[in-house]
Amino acid sequence: MKKIIILGSTGSIGTNALEVIRKAKDKFQVIGISGHKNYKLLMEQIEEFKPKYVSTGSDEGYHIIKERFPEVEVYFGDEGLKNLATKEEYDILLTAVSGAVGIEATVEGIKKGKRIALANKETMVAAGPYINRLLKENPKAEIVPVDSEHSAIFQSMLGGKKDEVRKIIITASGGTFRGKKIEELKDVSVEQALKHPNWSMGKKITIDSSTLVNKGLEVIEAHELFGVSYEDIEVLVHPQSVIHSMVEFKDRAVIAQLGAPDMKLPIQYAFTYPDRMESLALEPLDFTKFSTLTFEKPDHETFKGISLAFKAGRIRKTMPAVLNAANEVAVELFLKGKIKFLTIYEIIERAMERHIPLEIDGVEIIKKVDKETREWVYLHYAR
Ligand code: NDP
Ligand code: MG
Repeated sequence: MKKIIILGSTGSIGTNALEVIRKAKDKFQVIGISGHKNYKLLMEQIEEFKPKYVSTGSDEGYHIIKERFPEVEVYFGDEGLKNLATKEEYDILLTAVSGAVGIEATVEGIKKGKRIALANKETMVAAGPYINRLLKENPKAEIVPVDSEHSAIFQSMLGGKKDEVRKIIITASGGTFRGKKIEELKDVSVEQALKHPNWSMGKKITIDSSTLVNKGLEVIEAHELFGVSYEDIEVLVHPQSVIHSMVEFKDRAVIAQLGAPDMKLPIQYAFTYPDRMESLALEPLDFTKFSTLTFEKPDHETFKGISLAFKAGRIRKTMPAVLNAANEVAVELFLKGKIKFLTIYEIIERAMERHIPLEIDGVEIIKKVDKETREWVYLHYAR
């Protein structure tokens, strides 16, 4: 029986994870969950999964949960996430909160020597060099990626040795606006940007998919997770989202992982690795439904998300944290109707231009840069 703590249990990844667990209750036990504002769903999850520990970001929710579930240890806010991650008696920490708020809890999980099932890509993007150092210092800890591309790369890597890898090919659906040109993107609405062709995900990451910033973040995430240089990472648009990513080895063998576009697969794999378990939540992939699989180069002129990320990633230090923070606020402002779609790129570019990159010696510096960047974006764009 594996004991699991889920940070962000009320989100898209969180609820998919609970679906995996619901179908395999003899294998997995949820001992902790956290939500932010949606405490009603959190309470339904407490009733069903009976966790020992719960954290919420809602004031009202905190009091109601404490009263309704006296047997549960209830925590609050960012500290609450850390409190869950520092528990002794769990095996796997699934970090599925959205945004940079996931970093500190992940750090605590690594220090505890746990397996981190990592969905929160912001962690490797903003804090990659620091996380990698912590992993070296805590050899019992390990990260098994949940992001579908990185799960695919992780699985494909098992086809050879690390020094035999020639390159990583990260696939991208191309997002909602694939094929569109800058002129056509000037006035797109929030509703249009939220329509993802293949995946059903949280709002933030869906917008990131339409700007291709998500793919950019994934390039940095891949570099930090797998130690492959930026020259050896390629992004390939593959609109059907059947091949989740590939690894090319020295002998030109390309190993790929394929599957339906459903996060339950990489979530389950991060729970069961190095084993595989019968999927009780997924149908087999029906190849006859995909008579053509197509590939094309990304349009970097229109969708600057990937090139901005390569730039930030190569500078490394705190630059990816700036890209991430600027993008988070930009997406929030776009969702609120305060800025236009293409202004997201402008905000990231300007935030990066004004930043002098610093060495990352701990979480504090990331928090400082993150905060400064957010304040600058709000000051200049949140009218
Ligand atoms: P959602 O927006 O659906 O869920 C986010 C979760 O985090 C919710 O439980 C939310 O709580 C909680 N949360 C939000 N803000 C805070 C905060 N400030 N403090 C604590 N908790 C907070 O996001 P997704 O599930 O889509 O994504 C989660 C992470 O996984 C992201 O980093 C994303 O990039 C990554 N990811 C997601 C994929 C997907 O398919 N969805 C694919 C690959 C990676 P509440 O709802 O209660 O307010
Ligand atoms: Mg992904």
